[in-house]
Formats: sequence, structure tokens, C-alpha cells
Amino acid sequence: MTQASGTRDGLEGVETRLFIGGTWRDADDAGTIDVLDPADGSVLASVADGGTADAMAALDAAADAQAAWSATPPRERGELLRAAYELVAQRADQFARVISLEMGKPLAEAKGEVTYGNEFLRWFSEEAVRVHGRWMENPVGGSRMLTMKKPVGPCLFITPWNFPLAMGTRKIGPALAAGCTVVIKPASQTPLTMLLLAQVLEEVGVPAGVVNVVTTSSSREVGAALMADPRLRKVSFTGSTEVGRGLIGQSAEHLQRISMELGGNAPFLVFEDADLDAAVEGAMVAKMRNMGEACTAANRFLVHESVAEEFGRRLAERMSGLTVGRGQDDGVDVGPLINAEAVESVGALVSEAVEEGARVLVGGKPAEGPGWFFPPTVLVDVPAEATINRHEIFGPVAPITTFSTEEEAVAAANSSEYGLVAYAYTRDLTRSLRVSEALAFGMVGLNTGIVSNAAAPFGGVKASGFGREGGFEGIEEYLDTTYVAIPL
Ligand code: NAD
Repeated sequence: MTQASGTRDGLEGVETRLFIGGTWRDADDAGTIDVLDPADGSVLASVADGGTADAMAALDAAADAQAAWSATPPRERGELLRAAYELVAQRADQFARVISLEMGKPLAEAKGEVTYGNEFLRWFSEEAVRVHGRWMENPVGGSRMLTMKKPVGPCLFITPWNFPLAMGTRKIGPALAAGCTVVIKPASQTPLTMLLLAQVLEEVGVPAGVVNVVTTSSSREVGAALMADPRLRKVSFTGSTEVGRGLIGQSAEHLQRISMELGGNAPFLVFEDADLDAAVEGAMVAKMRNMGEACTAANRFLVHESVAEEFGRRLAERMSGLTVGRGQDDGVDVGPLINAEAVESVGALVSEAVEEGARVLVGGKPAEGPGWFFPPTVLVDVPAEATINRHEIFGPVAPITTFSTEEEAVAAANSSEYGLVAYAYTRDLTRSLRVSEALAFGMVGLNTGIVSNAAAPFGGVKASGFGREGGFEGIEEYLDTTYVAIPL
């Protein structure tokens, strides 16, 4: 096994081996994992199935490279990230095709992910030279306080399948900028994009051992082995709350620093004074980006009772106009879900909502195979307490629940254990600000269906995790502070 060439158009030249210490190699036990095309279940490529021996070799490489990388001038680290940004931009079409093939999203959306994901490399190439401490006089006089920032050390990144590039770059960018070396374990469903990115990082001259990629079907064992090693100083995880909880527990042994980007259950509030055209437009983006398979996906539509019927009708009209199909085909708006279990779980949530009193305006049932398709679906009259309102749907289903007062809307929005992002549509400035402040979420989309931006601090509260990715805050996750007391 060497490369994915000869498998599917667009995968020529994409590596399928582990990237450890600057070399590409097969798994220690020569095992492989099949990467499936979610549009028909066929095998796209086979990648190395790394085990704990491979993971430890990757950590050895990262630990060995740490001192030299952190001593590399920030400008040089920044220039390498900038060169990677340029190369990804040049190869945007290739990246988009690989993302679309292994994850299923339409090509246009995959291109959007490349632009968004690549922006983290550019943003943090610029932030690399802006890390600094402070010099301060002791408030009671007599001494000075100096603070300095240092890279936290070797990091482990565990990423999900839904944004195979962006979920990696928003960790790799700040870590490399800060002077940390990394071991990346991408999702086994979508490992090819991360391997392609590692090829770019190698090509622009990121030194051996600074970035290591271990693809594996044994995430639990590999994660546990790495976290049991005190040389690992930081874990950044994006994925489900359940897995995140386990990793937080494992971090206790060596007190590794952790960043957790976990699940969401985003409310989408539409007040009676909202611009309904804008709200429907925003709803389409917030709901349908990535087929609804996004932690930021609008999960619960909370709509004022006076406009709910009109909003539901217009949303259903737009949803029924979408074309479902293979992500690489022209004119497709909605690709397949990631696997059969995803289709089953979305279908079960819809059936349960209907049993609980919801009405289906459009969609509602899984499409016939092959492939793992679920049609755009709008549900109205969904009871506030319905199961679907309490679970992350992760599919193209919009359940609409009504409210009558602002207080009721905010209370319903905040009633979730999650707190990643909330959306609110209103034309009243005072209400906009009051509601934004009252919402218990890490991010608020005010009259917009999209919040993701490399220059903004992305992250949640409560069961959606902690830590921020992007913005000025992003690099802080990879820096420790040393304070020096100086009598003068
Ligand atoms: P997941 O938690 O099943 O898997 C995420 C990653 O963790 C994968 O790489 C997987 O292989 C690995 N993993 C699974 N079990 C592990 C273990 N015991 N030890 C170590 N690694 C393990 O999640 P998923 O199904 O891939 O992704 C969907 C979830 O991710 C959703 O809940 C979604 O909301 C969340 N997500 C959050 C954000 C965010 O920024 N907050 C972004 C994207 C996705």
C-alpha cells in the first residue's frame, strides 16, 4: 500500500500511510482501514490502521522535535504556515474533491470548507509574531512583575469527520504558531483530507516531527496510550460530548491541558418583528450547511406564534426545492449523511417527533439506498418537550416550536444542557442586545445563520465544552504563562 492512486478520480497522489517523524510509513502491523463513499458505500481508498506502537512513535517524534520547534523564530513559524496557506489555496479544488468524496458534502460546500479551514493557517501565520507577556509594577510598590508566554508542549488533536480540513487547521494553525508540536488523529471515516494536508505541510518545509498523523480504527486505545504518557502536554478534541467527557477524565492523570469543542443543540429564534425573508435565508444556511451535520447546525426553531405558520411554509418551500444527490454531481445541494447509523438515528428522531404530535411539511423518511441519504425535512407543531428538541439531530431536519413571549423564548433556548451557538432574528436593536446577553451560549448569530470565522473565538459553554478556537483567543490555548517576581 502506498497511495490512493487508481482508486477514484480525484484521489490520485493522496497519501494513505501514517506520517511520523517526517516519513510516510505503513502501520506497524500492516493493517488498513477502508474509507467509504457515503453516496454508495463503495471503498474509496484504504489507509493505514495505526496502533498504539505507531501512536507512541508519533509522540516520540513530536517530543523530540519540540525543543527545536519552540526555539524556531516566530516569524519563521509564521512563514511556514503562510506557505502552507498558499499551497492549500493553490490546491483548493483537489482538497474540495477529497473532502466531498470521503465526507459526502456537495463540492461547492467543500470549497467553502477549504476557504474557511485554510483561513486558520493564514490567521495564525499572522498571530505567530504577536505573542507577548507584560511588565508591571507591583500595586504595593517595591517590585516588578514580568510575565512570559511559552508553548505548552506536544499536543494531541482528535478531530471529527464533519469538517475534515477545518477541524484540523483550527488546531494546527495556533499550535504551530505558538511553537507546539502535534500528533493528529483524524476521524477514521475521513482521514484522506488530513493526510493531504500533511503532504502540504511536509512540502512547504515544516520540520520532521512537528506534525505527525496517525490514522486508526482504535481511537480509544490510541488516545489512552498517548494520554498516559506525561510528555503529552495538551489535548484538543472536537467531537461528541460523550467522548469528550471520557478524555477529560483521562487527562487527570498527567493534568494535560484540554480544549473541548463538543456537541451543540442550537436554538434558532425568530421574533415577531423579524425580517422573515432574512430569517428563512439564515435558517437555510444554519440548518442545511453540511446537510445539518454541524455542531453549529440550527437544531430547534423557536418561532413566535404570530409568524410561525408563514415561516414554516416558506422554509418548507425552500427545503423542497433542494436537490439531493452525490456531492460531486452538478446541481446537488444536499449530499448523503456520513453512514447508515446516521440515517437511522435521524429517522428515529423524526418518527418520535411525529408520535409526539409533530406534523411533517416536507421530507420525513430516509431515501432508498444505495447510499445514506435523508431528504430535507420540516416539522411543525413540535411540542417544546419533544425528544427531537433535546437531541443533537445531525441531519437535514428542521423542527419548529412556537413561543409567545421573549422571556419564554430565551428560557426555552437556555433549557438545553448544550451551549455552543444560538441564532436570533429580530429588527429591534434593544431586544437584539438584551437577548444576546441573556442567551447562555458561547456564540450568538444575530440576524445571521453563520458565525464561523477564523478571526473570531469559536467555542461553547456547558456541555458544549470549553476553550476557544480562532480569534486572538485561539493561540492562548497553546501557551503557558510564567511569571517572574523581580524586587527592584
Ligand atoms: P465522536 O466523538 O464519535 O468522534 C470524534 C473523534 O473522536 C473521532 O476522531 C473519533 O475517532 C474519536 N474518538 C471516538 N472515541 C474515542 C475515544 N474513546 N478516545 C479517543 N478518541 C475517540 O464524534 P463524531 O461523530 O465524529 O462527530 C460528531 C460530533 O462532533 C457531534 O456531537 C458534533 O456536535 C461534534 N462537533 C463539535 C464541533 C465543535 O466545534 N464544537 C465541531 C464539529 C463537530
